[in-house]
Amino acid sequence: MSRTTITLRAAACAALLAAAALPASAQFGGLLRNLPVPIPGVSAPAAAPAGGGDLIQMLQQSLESIDEPKEIEIGRQLAAVLLGSKPLHADMGLQRYVNELGRWISLHSTRPTLPWSFAVIDDPGFNAFAAPGGYIFVTKGLVDRVDEAELAGILAHEITHVVDKHHLQALKSKAAAGFGATLVGSQLRGDARGLVQSQVLSLIRNIYTSGLDKGDEFDADRHGVALAARAGFDPYGLPGVLQQLRTVPQDNPLFTLTLATHPPADQRLDNLEQAMGKRLDAFAGKPSVSIMQRVQAR
Ligand SMILES: [Zn+2]
Repeated sequence: MSRTTITLRAAACAALLAAAALPASAQFGGLLRNLPVPIPGVSAPAAAPAGGGDLIQMLQQSLESIDEPKEIEIGRQLAAVLLGSKPLHADMGLQRYVNELGRWISLHSTRPTLPWSFAVIDDPGFNAFAAPGGYIFVTKGLVDRVDEAELAGILAHEITHVVDKHHLQALKSKAAAGFGATLVGSQLRGDARGLVQSQVLSLIRNIYTSGLDKGDEFDADRHGVALAARAGFDPYGLPGVLQQLRTVPQDNPLFTLTLATHPPADQRLDNLEQAMGKRLDAFAGKPSVSIMQRVQAR
């Protein structure tokens, strides 16, 4: 991606937030206040974490020594990278609805006090991303293809990744394998700093293009279904999404990343069936509500 594209996209995010005379926090009702929106004019790569060396240093610590503020800071840097490559969608009503839906579900998780932020990225693909500390993004292409219970299931799956620190663990093990002890951020200056930034970016890209551990994905499905049910949604939302993924042509470019970063939908459904049995059937059968119905009713 060119420097111009990055700057333009970053500017689009900022323009979105600056669109009204109200301060951004008031405009979004304070809902998206935790998002690390890229700042236009920052030299390229605008999306690179400012303190790449610091991030590596944090990831080189043991998991126990990464306390919650550090975890949130790591996630904030990752979220800035994700947001630097794609703009937020301009529909404020949709952003507010998805953020409220996600926060409601996260309140039923075991980590309700994280600074949870949910947002819709303006991208036609079908995808969802999470970063440590509670940053969760879904694409507009995904939102257009699911109903409310299905979106709740997807958000609950992503919330589980955050609650159980799946990305943090993956980042740590990949950082340990790829960086070694020679890259100590505090000793880096000039060109070396640029090298660290580019390696941090490639580490982050690696996590989001190669996916997490298969077992973590199955866990996120199982716990996500239970979490969505606890928050009052039909537990069959996530299985509904998996049915959709099962039938989508493997070469549909809008689904490539999701299919490449997750175990096959058939396996995920089998796994869920074993875990759920009929235990959650009492919570099922709620009428389907579309996302646009919800947004327009507000
Ligand atoms: Zn996942």
